[in-house]
Amino acid sequence: MPDRAPQPVDRQLPTDEARDLISLVREIAQREIVPAAAEEEDAGRFPREVFALLSESGLLGLVYDAEHGGGDQPYEVYLQVLEELAAARLTVGLGVSVHSLASYALAAYGTKEQQAEHLPAMLGGGLLGAYCLSEPASGSDAASLRTKAVREGDDWVIDGTKAWITHGGIADFYTVMARTGEDGPRGITAFLVPGDAEGLSAAVPERKMGLKGSPTAQVHLDGVRVSDARRIGDEGQGFAIALSALDSGRLGIAACAVGVAQAALDEALSYVAQRRQFGRPIADFQGLRFMLADMATQIEAGRALYLTAARLRDAGLPFAKQAAMAKLHCTDTAMRVTTDAVQILGGYGYTADFPAERYMREAKVLQIVEGTNQIQRMVIARHLAGPEGR
Ligand SMILES: Cc1cc2nc3c(=O)[nH]c(=O)nc-3n(C[C@H](O)[C@H](O)[C@H](O)COP(=O)(O)OP(=O)(O)OC[C@H]3O[C@@H](n4cnc5c(N)ncnc54)[C@H](O)[C@@H]3O)c2cc1C
Repeated sequence: MPDRAPQPVDRQLPTDEARDLISLVREIAQREIVPAAAEEEDAGRFPREVFALLSESGLLGLVYDAEHGGGDQPYEVYLQVLEELAAARLTVGLGVSVHSLASYALAAYGTKEQQAEHLPAMLGGGLLGAYCLSEPASGSDAASLRTKAVREGDDWVIDGTKAWITHGGIADFYTVMARTGEDGPRGITAFLVPGDAEGLSAAVPERKMGLKGSPTAQVHLDGVRVSDARRIGDEGQGFAIALSALDSGRLGIAACAVGVAQAALDEALSYVAQRRQFGRPIADFQGLRFMLADMATQIEAGRALYLTAARLRDAGLPFAKQAAMAKLHCTDTAMRVTTDAVQILGGYGYTADFPAERYMREAKVLQIVEGTNQIQRMVIARHLAGPEGR
């Protein structure tokens, strides 16, 4: 087994408070997350108690207003927290990112009354959120979604099926995009649906390649009734809200990807220090040293790219292009670095006795979620060359 402890990443943090926050996250990760990660991922167990602890510790609402129980932290700090959590266990890092994505609609577009009523419980009261955009027949083309919400008096009645929902079946609230008007992006509205709403149910979770501790399930909405007070934003504004949430959410995925890649690099470095072949530690072989150098360089470049996008966002400047670039680069990097880590561990890398193969399986999903990497390239190209077919 590895005999070299991972070296903490040197982070550029803007305040002492942020440094204390990272220390707290490292402590929670080492004490509460890492020890059970491999076994629980194998067993497909979601660590709800870890999320309760993160909520108590103020880590589920870091970027939102202190007025509503958030942490008032800049995005550059929040993303580095996510990176640390994902390095410990992707189910946790990604789960925090998805919770933050699900909270975004209300935090950014809710009325003052809605925010006062719901946000404190969402940001620090132990609730867990889910974000419901995808459907069985609409993934990348999310604007073609078919789940319907029909107005009945002061209520809306929602019918349809959402697909691939992270925390589907265990979430306390669901931010649901549903069609209330015309076909296409302008006919969609966002709703905050409680997890215990009558008519809401989840299918058996998908059997996935990795990220098995994080439940991903279809969510059925069968005549789910919510009052108009649970509509977020204007009628027809739901798709714009969903996309705006994704610009920020993609940065969360980028940070998680860097975390998984860093964990894989740390694992490879431990291994090369203790494994001997041809009478020498394999760390002496230039073929592996160059691989390690490339892995580390790609990781640093990814971290720099997501931080650039985060700092633009923190300064109130446009950041959607850089967020798409960060998601693309960091997740492709995670795939390459984790694959190389398996290679560096040789036959042992291909076994579940070491975490490298789990990191490789986890990296794959990051190239798919919150807009596949083909879709990220489309977003970047639109920023560069304008919309297609002009
Ligand atoms: C583990 C997991 C968790 C998820 N969590 C959530 C969640 O919490 N909430 C949620 O709403 N969704 C969630 N998703 C769904 C995810 O966002 C979608 O899987 C993703 O957007 C792709 O949609 P799709 O799977 O339908 O693929 P499709 O859109 O059918 O794409 C199939 C292939 O075609 C490519 N493609 C599609 N259109 C184009 C194009 N115009 N140009 C070039 N290539 C194209 C894609 O890149 C892909 O390679 C999750 C998915 C997974 C696997």
